[in-house]
Amino acid sequence: MTPKDPTSSPRRAVILLSGGLDSTLAARMIADQGIELHALHFTSPFCTCSRGGDSNGAGCHSQAQVVAVEMGIPIKTIVKGQDYVDVIRNPSHGRGTGMNPCIDCRIYTFRTAKTYMASIGASFLVTGEVIGQRPMSQRADSIHFIEKHSGCRDIVLRPLSAHHFEPTLPEREGWVDREKLLGITGRSRKEQIALAEDLGVVDYPCPAGGCLLADKTFAIKVRDLFDHSDDVTMADLNLLKVGRHFRLADGRKVVVSQNKETNRRLESLCAAMQERSPFPTVYYSQGCPGPSVAIFGTKWEPEPMALLAKIYSRYTKPDTASPFLVRIVSPGEPRDILVPRDDDFSEVQDGMLCK
Ligand code: SF4
Repeated sequence: MTPKDPTSSPRRAVILLSGGLDSTLAARMIADQGIELHALHFTSPFCTCSRGGDSNGAGCHSQAQVVAVEMGIPIKTIVKGQDYVDVIRNPSHGRGTGMNPCIDCRIYTFRTAKTYMASIGASFLVTGEVIGQRPMSQRADSIHFIEKHSGCRDIVLRPLSAHHFEPTLPEREGWVDREKLLGITGRSRKEQIALAEDLGVVDYPCPAGGCLLADKTFAIKVRDLFDHSDDVTMADLNLLKVGRHFRLADGRKVVVSQNKETNRRLESLCAAMQERSPFPTVYYSQGCPGPSVAIFGTKWEPEPMALLAKIYSRYTKPDTASPFLVRIVSPGEPRDILVPRDDDFSEVQDGMLCK
């Protein structure tokens, strides 16, 4: 698509709407200039937005929906899928402090947005980016690199930081008034908060948001997963957010949940994996409070008694009588087994990821 494309409208643009403060302000500034905005929102399990929602970035998702509804603009949500797993696994342009492939991630986002622009006849892309706010993807050199490699050069408008860039196509063509754009830089949010007051934006629960991929502890688990599997899926990555993870010396992976809530979450995530090969075997404590356990191995071993004995001895309340009554819940028909006590946890402890 080019600006000369007869199907595109210079008054129509796509806004990358995260649900956070910056993109909300950018949207308001450009909508106030009479531009017809179409919001595009990406979700993934790695969003650490503080607002409620499930573990798939639904907090941000619902906030983006709220903003879009309040502004009366259409919103399309894109769930980052298997193609994004490949971006995490094999980034062409390096990673940040964790497993965050920020440059490739932004290229992925911009490319997807450009495809969406073409489908609705939009002429430019608006983002809430602020130069210098994030160390990897919002430096001036990175921003230009990302634009170039996503095919979005000259069509990305950043209303909050526009004065630090050469005028973009929509500014040069007079579709938007550059004088009404801003020159914010850096990590401080003071100017955005003042602007929010001016524009009457009062509900912005995740001013910065966050990304689990940039978390060094989470990165240990992601790296381990990629090291031990050639066909990692988003479901596998999602499971890394639940419970304690162990990689045993024999290659088996063990996940042990921590409380009632994570028990249920672990069970449901594993239930959705039963078609996979190898599938996880799931156990839960019967008759006394204790963890749920998922074991991933190369072959199905329904009763790895020695391992279960160590785990249930370690993570069931100390005064619980043994043997422990444990239910094998999947695969197949549920059935109960009696697991003996074994207080020597050292072998399993050695395999703990993120100690
Ligand atoms: S922090 Fe996460 S979501 Fe943000 S650009 Fe980097 S990888 Fe992508």
